[in-house]
Amino acid sequence: MVIVARKVGIYTRISRDDEGDAMGVARQQQDCERLADLRSWQAVKVYEDNDVSAFKRNVVRDEFELMLNDLRSGLIHGIIAYDLDRLARQPRDLERLIEIYDERPKAEFATVTNDVNLGTPDGRTMARIMVAFANKSSHDASRRIKRKHLELAQQGKDSGGPAPYGWRKDDRTKVDPDAAQAIREAQQEILAGVRIGTIRTRWQEEGLGNPRAGTKRMAHHHVEHILTNPRLVGYRTYHGEILTGDDGEPIKGEWKPINTLAEWEAVCAAIAERKQQRPGKMLARKYLLSGIARCGLCKTKIRGQVNPRWKTGSKAAKFSYQCSVVNGGCGKVGRVGDPVDKLIAELVLEEQHEKAAARGVPIEQQWPREGELDAVQADISQLLEAEKSKQITVSTLLQLLPTKEKERDELKLERARFYKDQKQAEAREAAGDLSLAEFFDLPIERQREIVLQSLSAVIIHPAGRGRRIFDPALIDPIWR
Ligand SMILES: [Zn+2]
Repeated sequence: MVIVARKVGIYTRISRDDEGDAMGVARQQQDCERLADLRSWQAVKVYEDNDVSAFKRNVVRDEFELMLNDLRSGLIHGIIAYDLDRLARQPRDLERLIEIYDERPKAEFATVTNDVNLGTPDGRTMARIMVAFANKSSHDASRRIKRKHLELAQQGKDSGGPAPYGWRKDDRTKVDPDAAQAIREAQQEILAGVRIGTIRTRWQEEGLGNPRAGTKRMAHHHVEHILTNPRLVGYRTYHGEILTGDDGEPIKGEWKPINTLAEWEAVCAAIAERKQQRPGKMLARKYLLSGIARCGLCKTKIRGQVNPRWKTGSKAAKFSYQCSVVNGGCGKVGRVGDPVDKLIAELVLEEQHEKAAARGVPIEQQWPREGELDAVQADISQLLEAEKSKQITVSTLLQLLPTKEKERDELKLERARFYKDQKQAEAREAAGDLSLAEFFDLPIERQREIVLQSLSAVIIHPAGRGRRIFDPALIDPIWR
């Protein structure tokens, strides 16, 4: 008589739930194979779900599903798993499995830990109890943790975890002065027109921000978040939303803020405005006067480009501003770029220095409608209070509240714009004191912004054939 070994499938799974119990799939599989040998079964297939939680309800475990099908169709005669926990933690999954064992009473079942046997009625009852318990405790645990987090947030308590950039690693309530300085500088740059992408590049080079361990890379949205985080003004957030108290005011955390409200609102408004104006990516420009310079003959916008003729001639690639047929120009006017940039920068800085001197020191101004905003806030608190103490009904509250909320939001937006304009003006003011070297050290967008403050265009006139010496008289700045 020939004994044909029973064919079984091995099921393995790692889940992030397995804390401190990182039973690798490889080891699970080895143990299951050994068990198959002991029983004289033939392990024909391994079903491996990686990093999928069997507890989370909305997660589909592909291999688990495949295994159920194979078992149902008789392709395999049984299952081996490390333990019940890895196999099924949702009652729904367990019931589907049990259903198959009900239909196929001869199907094999074994776990390495021998915690349960689905092949017997008693084992199934046991399994149901075990899964029900595991399920309840998992649910309770996660509900309890969530509630605790919200509770702490509402009290303005800090959440755990690594310190956000700007605060000290050993104490999240204290400001890290260097990081805070880097944030403030970057915010100033944003207000002066620098792109987030430029700040990201610089931070990556200098090791600033919060790059992921082992790499220097940071995502764009990550940098944006660091610069606009409500935490900068002490606001407590929960799942990205600013939490408000019973009085409708934002809840303040226990940590030291890095920004004043005016600074923070200005940066948020500037970034939001830029997104609106220029959806998608802001164009990264390479040359100071690209699109600012125009051809003296055809008046078409001129861009900077590396000239291959010079590129081959010298080590340092020189660039030129060249009227181009491709861009709809005449193609007849071009000039070596560097002297043009230097000339324009000198002229612009000189003009801005004179202007700044004439204006004197700017006075920091308070937004004039702060009192109005306070009054609206007070109205809102009063309404909420009145409903709470049953002086008015919920429906009355909901009739009155939206108007007041709209008023408040509009005022807040106006305040943000006011401070944004003010901060931007301050940033511009600072340009008047720059030396030429400092100017050229700035990010290119910032340089361009400064130029555009003073000039609407730069006309480059044709130089005539064979002229080698740069003639400033042929560069014509158009002042605003
Ligand atoms: Zn032209």
